[in-house]
Amino acid sequence: MKLHEYQAKDIFRKFGIPVPKGRVAASVDEAVKAGQDLPGPPWVVKAQVHAGGRGKGGGVRVVKSLDELKQATSDILGRPLVTKQTGPEGKKVHQVLIEEGVHIDREFYLAVVIDRSKARPVVIFSQAGGMEIEEVAARSPELVLKEFVDPKIGWMPFQAKNLVYSLDPLPGPDTVKELLSLIGALYRLFMAQDCSLAEINPLVITKEGKALAIDGKINIDDNGLVRQKDLKALDDPREKDPLDAKAEQYNINYIRLSGNIGAMVNGAGLAMATMDVIKLAGAEPANFLDVGGGASEEMVKKGFEIILEDKNVKAILINIFGGILRCDVLARGVLAAAEKIDIKVPIIIRLEGTNVQEGRAILQNSNLKFMVAKDMAEAAAMVTEQVRRSA
Ligand code: ADP
Ligand code: MG
Repeated sequence: MKLHEYQAKDIFRKFGIPVPKGRVAASVDEAVKAGQDLPGPPWVVKAQVHAGGRGKGGGVRVVKSLDELKQATSDILGRPLVTKQTGPEGKKVHQVLIEEGVHIDREFYLAVVIDRSKARPVVIFSQAGGMEIEEVAARSPELVLKEFVDPKIGWMPFQAKNLVYSLDPLPGPDTVKELLSLIGALYRLFMAQDCSLAEINPLVITKEGKALAIDGKINIDDNGLVRQKDLKALDDPREKDPLDAKAEQYNINYIRLSGNIGAMVNGAGLAMATMDVIKLAGAEPANFLDVGGGASEEMVKKGFEIILEDKNVKAILINIFGGILRCDVLARGVLAAAEKIDIKVPIIIRLEGTNVQEGRAILQNSNLKFMVAKDMAEAAAMVTEQVRRSA
């Protein structure tokens, strides 16, 4: 689960990480009111969407008067913002964060993530922070420092010193102290809130020598949400693809992709393999969908409905290896969905495993038109052929 910048900064405050004064606004009037109440000018108007790269995409604007603030807010609010991370269609902006403008002297990068290969958290720090951190990592990896954390021991003060004393030039002693404690605080936050990512880019030193988190990004590990009830309320469904959100509601593992072949599969491994064979056959999958091993008829039906709601889908490949999910259950689920929806695209089915005869019989005796493939390669070739014909 991703949080907005303003939500991340509320959590930063709770953990003692200093942030600029700011307030979120959902309308131009609210934004102007926020500007009046906050120190400034200058203020900064920041689009709140689940994507980075806003600065370069025009989603972060420094303004020097309330008129400019009003103009910038009405430019940004209600429109899609396109950044490197949003895709060409952009993300619609529903809220802006109005912040006091800070006099920035230096910009650093700081983050905590899990390093999967080492199976432990890692704190990443770079003095070349700001908007181009990805390029720094690619071109000058020596500027990106890492401290791995033994979770049994936790964050050790010397590790913070390893990072901060790398700074060249070294800031004054008070600033160094602030940085040391800020890094420790971000690690504590990361652990306490079950984060998969806690990032500050940029972490700045102001002209006055204060350490401050200017941007904030927090992702929560979904598996931790059962014990992070307060955080669950921060979820913003408007940020999600509507079909992704619907699938989440039904507990179906679905990820929308940009191709035109819908796929319904049981088991994540088989779903990945199915996407591969679709690509090998020269087409593009419209989704990843794993109905799960123990899927009920109802879940199969819901999964099928979600695939059909995607208007890009030109053909559907159902690839089921009947194990815990029996082929007859799958067949009944598909029929139940087909009864409700007028299906206009060809359906190719490859069934194997438990109750396969029964499953095939149910489908064959229905008035649903579909094609049966004998194996995965044939299924992928058939579905690709169908899409070519319809083009
Ligand atoms: P993004 O990472 O999405 O581009 P940031 O929050 O990092 O958005 O903002 C981009 C840049 O805008 C920052 O690197 C910083 O230079 C400037 N900026 C953002 N917020 C402020 C602020 N409150 N005061 C001064 N400058 C800011
Ligand atoms: Mg940033």
